[in-house]
Amino acid sequence: MLRLPRFRYHEPHTVAEAVKAWADAAPDAAYVAGGTDLYPNMKRRQQTPGTVISLHRIGELRTITGSPEAGVTIGACVTLTELATHAALRDRYPAVAQAAHVVSTPILRNMGTIGGNLLIDTRCNYYDQTYEWRKAIDFCMKRDGEICWVAPSSPRCWAVQSSDGVPVAVALGAEVTLTSVRGTRRIAAADLYRNDGIRHLEKEPDELLVAYHLPPAPNGAWKASYHKLRRRDAFDFPVLGVATRVDFEKDGTVAAARIVLGAIASYPQEVPAAAAAIVGTRLDESAIGAAADAAFRPAKPMDNTDFTLAWRKEMVRVHVQRALQDIRGQIT
Ligand SMILES: Cc1cc2nc3c(=O)[nH]c(=O)nc-3n(C[C@H](O)[C@H](O)[C@H](O)COP(=O)(O)OP(=O)(O)OC[C@H]3O[C@@H](n4cnc5c(N)ncnc54)[C@H](O)[C@@H]3O)c2cc1C
Ligand code: SF4
Repeated sequence: MLRLPRFRYHEPHTVAEAVKAWADAAPDAAYVAGGTDLYPNMKRRQQTPGTVISLHRIGELRTITGSPEAGVTIGACVTLTELATHAALRDRYPAVAQAAHVVSTPILRNMGTIGGNLLIDTRCNYYDQTYEWRKAIDFCMKRDGEICWVAPSSPRCWAVQSSDGVPVAVALGAEVTLTSVRGTRRIAAADLYRNDGIRHLEKEPDELLVAYHLPPAPNGAWKASYHKLRRRDAFDFPVLGVATRVDFEKDGTVAAARIVLGAIASYPQEVPAAAAAIVGTRLDESAIGAAADAAFRPAKPMDNTDFTLAWRKEMVRVHVQRALQDIRGQIT
């Protein structure tokens, strides 16, 4: 049985108390929400904070406010189950609800939060292992070692951004609010991520993600979809996620689009060339095919998750096609 290391534990009741607790324990502290990512990582000694600050007693992080007309704000500790079953979200932001619904199992979705989902650690077959397993290969660059076993001559880590919620947040043009004792800022979700398996977030360690802001969704103005590929639908992480947002003119032509690939790189990879292939079209089959081809070319999965590289790359074409066909199905 894997045991947690020893740590100090705080349960603040307000955001102000939480960020102060982090500052008091700095730099050896971590926030925890549902704990479904952090605690397994601690058991494997991938992360070993001396102080853990729980967010689950902070009521202000558990609310959903606003409206689809004005934009919806979701507190960081709203659970994935709440997102997946929320009537207004399912109706007007179905991609958000769908991405939450396909995370892992019902038990983990009951515990796991949207804030934690946007901030999970990057993943790799050589890293998501017990301490003893990692020690047996002399560790790797991401934690305790020197070399990258996926690309031994590479100066960087290629661990994969594997959240279902992240590509959707970026495709929608969502924003997040971050706060610490140093101040508060609101940034685009797209600016939260870096193409680096180790320093994969632009968020500073002391910053608490307070809220997730969905853009206004006036009825029919834009549509979004999320398609996930994984080995077992019962609970696996994605080996590919495709999130799309397509904005329409009144006459049904595509005014703008965003196509984002998840679980293929260390960051959510937006593919502007794929989006450009459908702008100005009526999302006909040939435009969808051109977008799928354009997304296929820059996708460069590494050999550090499930399935073979070549197959995962080929699946980009297939799933971009399906995601856009899904959008077309929503408007006809
Ligand atoms: C078996 C298994 C299968 C899984 N499958 C999937 C899957 O298919 N798709 C998927 O996306 N995820 C999956 N996960 C990962 C995880 O369950 C979810 O992503 C979940 O939403 C994480 O949320 P949490 O609240 O439990 O995060 P936590 O574990 O509490 O936190 C995750 C990280 O975010 C930080 N953090 C959490 N909240 C905040 C905040 N508000 N501000 C600042 N920092 C914060 C923590 O310090 C930690 O680093 C899986 C996990 C397991 C164990
Ligand atoms: S990509 Fe390389 S450095 Fe990063 S976790 Fe995997 S083996 Fe380690």
